[in-house]
Amino acid sequence: MSRADFLTARPAIAAPALGEPYLLTPGPLTTSLATKQSMLRDWGSWDGDFNRITAEVRSELLSMAGVGDDTYACVPLQGSGTFAVEAALATAVARDGKILVLMNGAYGKRAAQILDYLGRSYVALDKGDYLPPQPEEVAELLDSNPEISDVFLVHCETSSGILNPLREIAEVVKARGKGLIVDAMSSFGAVPLTVDKVPFDVVIASANKCIEGIPGFGFVIIRRALIEQSKGRAHSLSLDLLEQWQYMERTGQWRFTPPTHSVVAFRQALEQHAEEGGVPGRQARYTRNRETLVKGMRAMGFQTLLEDRWLSPIITTFFSPAHPNFQFKRFYDELKARQFIIYPGKLTRVESFRIGCIGQIDERIVTQLLCAITDALSVMGVDDCSPTNDPVLSEGHRP
Ligand SMILES: *Cc1c(COP(=O)(O)O)cnc(C)c1O
Repeated sequence: MSRADFLTARPAIAAPALGEPYLLTPGPLTTSLATKQSMLRDWGSWDGDFNRITAEVRSELLSMAGVGDDTYACVPLQGSGTFAVEAALATAVARDGKILVLMNGAYGKRAAQILDYLGRSYVALDKGDYLPPQPEEVAELLDSNPEISDVFLVHCETSSGILNPLREIAEVVKARGKGLIVDAMSSFGAVPLTVDKVPFDVVIASANKCIEGIPGFGFVIIRRALIEQSKGRAHSLSLDLLEQWQYMERTGQWRFTPPTHSVVAFRQALEQHAEEGGVPGRQARYTRNRETLVKGMRAMGFQTLLEDRWLSPIITTFFSPAHPNFQFKRFYDELKARQFIIYPGKLTRVESFRIGCIGQIDERIVTQLLCAITDALSVMGVDDCSPTNDPVLSEGHRP
């Protein structure tokens, strides 16, 4: 397919400006034209019109999580998703609490790093780059460490793309009366997460992932009783979630300068989310993207890190071909020249790369991507996409 064909073959779902690449990355991602256009005006941060938008957004996020504002609060916070994770951990875990951090990638590790900064004690279950924490392991750890007050789990660990067994782990945690804090950053809005199925205390996500907004803020959905009793826990003025919430409840405004354009774009993105059929609709499209991608890549000889049962509809890790002509940087540049931006891998032992399935893309665009990949590999002189024989690839080591 030539470059000109790509441009004319673009379907209506996404219309980035001429020459703008599709972002096949886990946020920021490709947003719709309507979302971009919603940012073409300025808003006063104290103005009633803007405050109404904030209120709408907060209430829609609560409904998406299947909770009412009588028992849960939605607190948006300026900054990237990590700011919200940090604020949530400081708020939800008592200063003398102890948290079990389930890790199988970069974001679980980051949570532990945050706890180091906060001076909160924790126990870590580190499963390495991609193995899922198992509910039985969690049960055992909770039973042998009764002082643990809360459990932290990343729903979709974006560094490998694995969808962790959240429901099963939530059951184990709740049966023991512990708090459950879920980093649902890269899954919220595209993988069902409602309180009736997953009895969570805290869910954290951000504007620029599956809701398809632009970066600028994260949000924390937290049990009211929990945030109400969190006075004195915050370590930071700007990340004090309780203060942020109380100020917002009292005035309808953000405590400090809000990311106005990002909030307005997010409201527009939420509208499109609803039009697409809400969470199930979005999940269906992303799943189709993933299926088209994985099928096409396997046909070329690529292998996925994970077996099918662990694949998320969010992002997929592929092993790099062992072929001597394959270099990620060159592959990246060739794809970028064909208007697709992919993502480097995050595995510590083997070379890999990641391709996101989220954002304003559909199967037709994924098919164009597959053509671009075929093209890129041929230009690079890579005629065999099978990966190295590292033991990590042998079936016994795969989850
Ligand atoms: C994106 C993401 C975050 C937050 O990352 P930021 O770069 O701070 O936005 C946290 N957890 C997961 C699982 C993520 O995918």
